[in-house]
Amino acid sequence: MPKVLLIEDEMQIVRLVRAYLEQAGFQVSVARDGEEGLRRARQEQPDLVILDLMLPKMDGLDVCRTIRKSSNVPIIMLTARTEETDKLVGLELGADDYITKPFSPRELVARARAVLRRANAAGAEPTDLVRVGGLEIDAATHTATVDGVPVELTRTEFDLLLTLARHPGRVYTRAQLLEAVLGDAYEGYERTIDAHIKNLRRKIEPDPRQPRYIQTVYGVGYKLQEGV
Ligand code: CA
Repeated sequence: MPKVLLIEDEMQIVRLVRAYLEQAGFQVSVARDGEEGLRRARQEQPDLVILDLMLPKMDGLDVCRTIRKSSNVPIIMLTARTEETDKLVGLELGADDYITKPFSPRELVARARAVLRRANAAGAEPTDLVRVGGLEIDAATHTATVDGVPVELTRTEFDLLLTLARHPGRVYTRAQLLEAVLGDAYEGYERTIDAHIKNLRRKIEPDPRQPRYIQTVYGVGYKLQEGV
């Protein structure tokens, strides 16, 4: 069941849209202001965000811009304004579609399905985006985030993390990791992996001494924990 996050402060619209979406088979969660919307977008990892433009605390454009820094989730903007510029700004900030109030809920459901279909079609390609728990790694842009916060990684650290994250739970020996990230010219320098792992943990782990993501497998090597 696709999860939709609806960020909208007008209760009448919330009730109407929620009823139609639920009937269409979506699971709906609601945020009533921009800050709550951002929080829920991070925590709930929805499949689709429906975002009102005029919101308390943080407006829809800022919410959209912030979500886009760390996520490719499809976004449909709702706008009461009719000016073309607002729509364009929304699309430039990374919204996938927009719909102008007043709108028919049927129309919104149809747009939601269309946007999700497009997103799923794109997702069927070999994915550049790997997510494990709060960790998100984008191979296309060479960026990584932990709980939505970007972390600065060296190229080796990045390649190491991506290798581990592509197969959570799989155990890699130091030699395999070395080969994956540096090539076999470095054979025999397996302990250098330990130094990279140590740096990586310092950057991505909430508590590097008790790693949540990168686990040591004694006598063998390392793995990325499944289901964190
Ligand atoms: Ca509003």
